[in-house]
Amino acid sequence: MAGVTEIIERARGEARLVLTEIESKQLLKSLGIPTTEMRLAVSKEEAVALSRDIGYPCVLKVSSPDITHKSDAGGVKVGLESDDEVAAAFDAIMTSCRAKFPGAVIEGVTVQNMAKPGLEVIVGMATDPQFGPVLMFGLGGVWVEVLKDVSFKIVPLNKADAAKAVPEIRAARLLDGFRGSEPVDKAALEDILLRVSEFVAKTPDVQEMDLNPIFAYPDGAIAVDARVILGE
Ligand code: ADP
Ligand code: MG
Repeated sequence: MAGVTEIIERARGEARLVLTEIESKQLLKSLGIPTTEMRLAVSKEEAVALSRDIGYPCVLKVSSPDITHKSDAGGVKVGLESDDEVAAAFDAIMTSCRAKFPGAVIEGVTVQNMAKPGLEVIVGMATDPQFGPVLMFGLGGVWVEVLKDVSFKIVPLNKADAAKAVPEIRAARLLDGFRGSEPVDKAALEDILLRVSEFVAKTPDVQEMDLNPIFAYPDGAIAVDARVILGE
């Protein structure tokens, strides 16, 4: 886990508690959790060059320590198919984010491969004053905000805990295939829960994590957004 230590130490060195999306995903990658390929572009030209490298369709997202809800700021453009679309997306992201967050430091945009659509779920980790680190699993998107349909497990999770966390949510039927859709790979989701649990159990530096969303597929799952927050 050399990569993880370096990422955390770099943030500490810069007195930052919130890891960037790139750092958060590097961390996931070193934990063996599937995530998108991504790189930082500091100019429009670089965004186009990186998009060609990563391949179309791709996704552009604002990279700023001051903007945590990127889509609310107009900072996410998905499904970009060409150099022109990437160039236009770069301008649109900059214009919108500068207008909505006038004081924000904007490092540039991240360029990432576009993951194929899947059922959106989330895995979160929070530190409870009484129980210590707890993991949360739920459906992503509006489901988590509106229905608060999530299950909680205290770290460290064993295999049985992880296997229970997934079907415990009220909307579990959606995971089993609904109206002709194929069931999602629950083992892949349990595996993510176990990897996050094992990591936070031995890394008290980490106070909060959000893998939101994870796209769950009939075969596998991939985190398309991630945020890691360190404790004071
Ligand atoms: P926010 O900061 O608003 O949470 P996200 O990175 O989660 O921004 O992006 C918003 C939405 O865009 C996600 O919920 C997901 O549906 C979609 N998305 C983001 N990144 C990707 C990607 N690499 N591939 C496919 N869809 C993506
Ligand atoms: Mg998100």
